[in-house]
Amino acid sequence: MGNWEENVRKVVPYVPGEQPNKPGMIKLNTNENPYPPSPAVMKALGEIRADGLRRYPDPSSKILIDAIAESYGIDPNQVFVGVGSDDVLAMTFMTFFNSNRPVLFPDITYSFYDVWADLLRIPYEIQALDEQFCICKEDYKKKNGGVIFPNPNAPTGVLLELGDIEEIIQANRDVVVVIDEAYIDFGGESALPLIEKYDNLLVVQTFSKSRALAGMRIGCAFGQPMLIKYLNDVKYSFNSYTMDETALAIGAAAVRDKAYYKETVKKIVATREWVKKELREMGFVFEDSMSNFIFAAHTSVRAQYILEELRKNNIYVRHFHKPIRISNYLRITIGTDDEMKKFLKTLKNILEKR
Ligand SMILES: *Cc1c(COP(=O)(O)O)cnc(C)c1O
Repeated sequence: MGNWEENVRKVVPYVPGEQPNKPGMIKLNTNENPYPPSPAVMKALGEIRADGLRRYPDPSSKILIDAIAESYGIDPNQVFVGVGSDDVLAMTFMTFFNSNRPVLFPDITYSFYDVWADLLRIPYEIQALDEQFCICKEDYKKKNGGVIFPNPNAPTGVLLELGDIEEIIQANRDVVVVIDEAYIDFGGESALPLIEKYDNLLVVQTFSKSRALAGMRIGCAFGQPMLIKYLNDVKYSFNSYTMDETALAIGAAAVRDKAYYKETVKKIVATREWVKKELREMGFVFEDSMSNFIFAAHTSVRAQYILEELRKNNIYVRHFHKPIRISNYLRITIGTDDEMKKFLKTLKNILEKR
């Protein structure tokens, strides 16, 4: 055997949440939306013609970018789109994090960040959240090669106030600051308006959560035209046709139906607030979540045990072994009222049995 393996780029890959498909399951493990996407999406799907698929899609993704720009009241040249925000974020790491100084992000956060940094050989330095799982803004005021964190943070659900975010951006005018707003529609104030003021701010959002399109893979980024241009330069150097014809049509339809998405988000938030109360009564502790999930630990029963017992009942939640500080927490996605009723009932039985 030759030595070819020496030249392989070896990576420890990100592990996505499992996608079981069992009849009657209650799937609360990957922060998917429990409601279907907008009816406008169904209509757009019906209008897709197989004959059109022999052509390449529009590499500039114009119909989707125009729809997003119109819906958010910004200019199309302030919008970038990708195959889910994972694709947008990967492009972001490649485009903006090229310093010898470390990129800063929290110790407890989206577990894809360190994977991209390792893959692309970007130095990084994790910053510990405080005892309440809060991002300490002071930690992000040292010299660095870029800053990225989700707001609200994942998997904690904890929100950082917009004023604190602005302070972090102001302290980092020489690097790009990326705010990953995967869950911002479920509470909290978006940093989007700040792009007018700061040319080093990139705001990333996704259609996977609040718009119920995780299966379609659509994400976007907002920033001043210069940032968007640099992102596009990298995109066209990597894969010009990231967005397929179907994704463009469906994404445009989804983003135009504001009323539907607002209504489903409102339902999820109402369910979340009710589930918070129920969980507290059962002896769970957690910081206040502003997302479509609750990150909770039980005061006496181990997370691993609860996870396994829930599984036996065809209910799936997410558990992270690392870092150790969160190994007794479960991340519970908010489902429909009916799903959450069944979940809470099962949970009660599991805890009583103990
Ligand atoms: C879900 C999620 C994403 C990725 O979502 P896509 O489905 O790739 O759009 C990005 N960041 C965070 C924090 C997430 O939770």
